[in-house]
Amino acid sequence: MADKPKFAMYWAAACGGCDIALLGINEKILDFAEAFEPVFWPCVMDGKKSDIEGLADGALALTFFNGAIRTEEDEAMARLLRKKSAVFVAFGSCAVEGCMPGLSNLSSADDHLITVYLDNPSTTVTDPAVVPRLSTRVAEGELRLPGLYDTVRSVRQTVDIDYMIPGCPPEAHQLEAVMELFMGTSGLPEKGAVLGAGTRALCEECPRIRSWTGREQRRLRFRRLYEIIPDSTRCLIDQGIVCMGPATRGGCTALCPGANMPCIGCYGAPAGVADQGAAMLSALASITDAGSAGQPEEAMQREVEAAFEPIVDPVGTFYKFSLAHALLNRARPASPVTDEAADRKGKGRA
Ligand code: SF4
Ligand code: SF4
Repeated sequence: MADKPKFAMYWAAACGGCDIALLGINEKILDFAEAFEPVFWPCVMDGKKSDIEGLADGALALTFFNGAIRTEEDEAMARLLRKKSAVFVAFGSCAVEGCMPGLSNLSSADDHLITVYLDNPSTTVTDPAVVPRLSTRVAEGELRLPGLYDTVRSVRQTVDIDYMIPGCPPEAHQLEAVMELFMGTSGLPEKGAVLGAGTRALCEECPRIRSWTGREQRRLRFRRLYEIIPDSTRCLIDQGIVCMGPATRGGCTALCPGANMPCIGCYGAPAGVADQGAAMLSALASITDAGSAGQPEEAMQREVEAAFEPIVDPVGTFYKFSLAHALLNRARPASPVTDEAADRKGKGRA
């Protein structure tokens, strides 16, 4: 029998949810195991980087890469697997657009180390304080850790990709269809295509009744979720809950609105939308009656600020999944990651 095509799945800056999502296609995974030979999948089987290095370029028929690019190791593995793969797929929101790891672009790598190892109230700081360093000499030799990048990038900002599968994680029914596609004989879509999702905004597949589809504006009072139990038939935005449906790619069957929870945007922006957060702000601004024509600018600004004030974490709300791909994707310019982060704050290092 001819060798099966080889399959790899890798996680970089990831939570493991994408790996679990792939296993979550239940018995279909058996069909997939019939069609492909998994040769590298750190979440579920032992394997070494050297196994991949030893393969010819393009020898992996299909690689799913999940997770964002946070460390030197993440980038090295993305480059290696890209080179060894005939088809390389950015799998899940972290790989496609940075997802929650991308929110760390609001700060710097040094600040993260200081917060986690020195300033965290639940951390017992030793004297001298210990912060992971890139190189440590022990009796057996030098131990090295991969460097932490200041700016988190998605996989598609790092290497050439063939396809992307959005979602945090991608939904099982969509993954089943994607696996059928890769196992089938009908050919693959054009390079760069989004697989396992729709093209239009989630609102198009949500059954809730909206009253803001016309040009009518309304004085919305935004609420936090704990303040109300929403009516399960009416659009959540109509009830003052920020639901990312207008700025999020459909394809999940509106699972969260179906459970009386707002969409949080995990499928990213719909086709043709460059910046998910800006699109959502634009959608809310177009239906929110804050400020009026002819009003002095300062008074208008006060009204707008008062209207949006209940949204306590605007970046985390509008860019939870896409900050790494936002037009403004950093809070401050990138600075080099140094071993002296703690020293600059006047703290010692082991
Ligand atoms: S996309 Fe979501 S489920 Fe997948 S690794 Fe990232 S955080 Fe986890
Ligand atoms: S905003 Fe949310 S609740 Fe309203 S229609 Fe769109 S997806 Fe449904």
